Amino acid sequence: MKSYQQLYINGQWQSPVQGRLFETVDPSDESVIAQVAAATAEDVDVAVRAARHAFDQGPWPQLSGRERGAVLRRIADGIRERQQALAELEVRDNGKPLPEALWDIEDTAGCFDFYADLAERLDEQREQPVALADERFSSVARKEPVGVAGAIIPWNFPMLMASWKVAPALAAGCCMVLKPSEVTPLTALELADIAHQAGLPAGVLNVVTGLGPDAGAPLSEHPGIDKLAFTGSVPTGSRIMQAAARDIRNVSLELGGKSPFIVFDDADIEAAVEWIMFGIFWNKGEVCSATSRVLVQQGLYDTLMSRLLEETRKITIGNGMQDGVLMGPLVNQAQYQKVTAAIARGTEEGARLITGGRRPEHCDRGYYLEPTIFVDVPVESSVWQEEIFGPVVCIRTFGDEAEAVQLANASRFGLAGAVMSRDLERCDRVARQLRAGIVWINCSQPTFTEAPWGGYKQSGIGRELGEWGLNNYLETKQITRFDSAEPWGWYIK
Ligand code: NAD
Repeated sequence: MKSYQQLYINGQWQSPVQGRLFETVDPSDESVIAQVAAATAEDVDVAVRAARHAFDQGPWPQLSGRERGAVLRRIADGIRERQQALAELEVRDNGKPLPEALWDIEDTAGCFDFYADLAERLDEQREQPVALADERFSSVARKEPVGVAGAIIPWNFPMLMASWKVAPALAAGCCMVLKPSEVTPLTALELADIAHQAGLPAGVLNVVTGLGPDAGAPLSEHPGIDKLAFTGSVPTGSRIMQAAARDIRNVSLELGGKSPFIVFDDADIEAAVEWIMFGIFWNKGEVCSATSRVLVQQGLYDTLMSRLLEETRKITIGNGMQDGVLMGPLVNQAQYQKVTAAIARGTEEGARLITGGRRPEHCDRGYYLEPTIFVDVPVESSVWQEEIFGPVVCIRTFGDEAEAVQLANASRFGLAGAVMSRDLERCDRVARQLRAGIVWINCSQPTFTEAPWGGYKQSGIGRELGEWGLNNYLETKQITRFDSAEPWGWYIK
């Protein structure tokens, strides 16, 4: 790779047709890290055509799963070899602390290995016999790649979010165009370089960096795309779905959330404090599944709150490259303004701010914000209802289990939820009543490549990860044969 000023299209680094660039900024000091290629509709068109050609002419879709799996494993190895450098790039582009970024990169490599395994399994499982009631016929259901995929991703886990789409799409035999977020575009370009070095054939993966309206919109509208896979906000997801609707394109959406965390009064207080904090302060709360609404049973409330306040105030905030830092800056100025405006609105709406809500005193540059806790939050307030996507938690009390479930489910979102109690039967009961795609019991946020990920309600459509993630990129075809020696006998007796 020469620089970040080129796009990766058809196995080559190419300057954008209009020669435009955009800046990506280090949120810890507001300095420009790099000038990055800004793709427009012309570049997207070239990239989609390259993917189309690679899919239609092969050989990628026709390779065995074992052969495709071998390339995916080499990509995983390439990511591991550069783990430190990639993690440092992620810290600079996104602001997260280095240990979190190292963990993301490890997970990214793990995702490629996981889908390499599934690609291999596909060789045996591609065709399954279908039992028919009419024995004159035999039938098989066959899985085939859906075609050319367009993937559009956000900035909170830049390389990991890319892997959740690229790894299963490649495993399935699809070719694709990936558009990373303009806020954190760098590691997606590194991924293109790693895939190139791993011997991925030209045109199978194309990476176009650029702004949402200039590069994302043309990708979502391009007639050469068979499947759109999007992760991001609800308003953009709605636009993507409308673009997909025009040509009846297959679409999967991973959108926002306002996930509840129910803590019953028999919960272990120390564990509850730790998981509440991990649920909303990890990655600065810029996590789609962040448990940003905490419901605490009345009996535990006072003790839990005093421990939560004590621990929250101890969080070390600073540049993600410094040892011991547990919270970096928010990703950019726009996000900082959005989160601080949401906090101001919360106060106006009657929620009580008990800690945070402002820039830490020792940080005069960068988009730093103290971890923030609201209590006595009115259920109709925007801070209770709307996704903030920052280190802001809203806390309310509840009386009994039925009230907790009712409050938890009273949301237009349904991505995730968590429940904490020593009574595991109660946890299971509540988990089954939550209207959400992911429920954690006695924890919040641990995410596994093997398990399905995605939301109910306005949190999205479809599931990523696990075998569900592979199925996103597969079509199912039936092949049915008439085996009887007897004539059909409808027209000709
Ligand atoms: P966003 O919707 O602003 O942007 C996401 C992507 O869409 C970016 O690549 C952007 O360039 C692109 N885009 C913007 N406008 C577009 C348009 N008109 N057409 C096509 N593409 C366009 O979201 P964001 O701020 O990057 O990410 C934060 C959101 O993502 C939050 O709501 C969060 O909950 C959600 N998210 C969800 C998951 C999940 O798995 N459910 C994971 C991570 C983030």
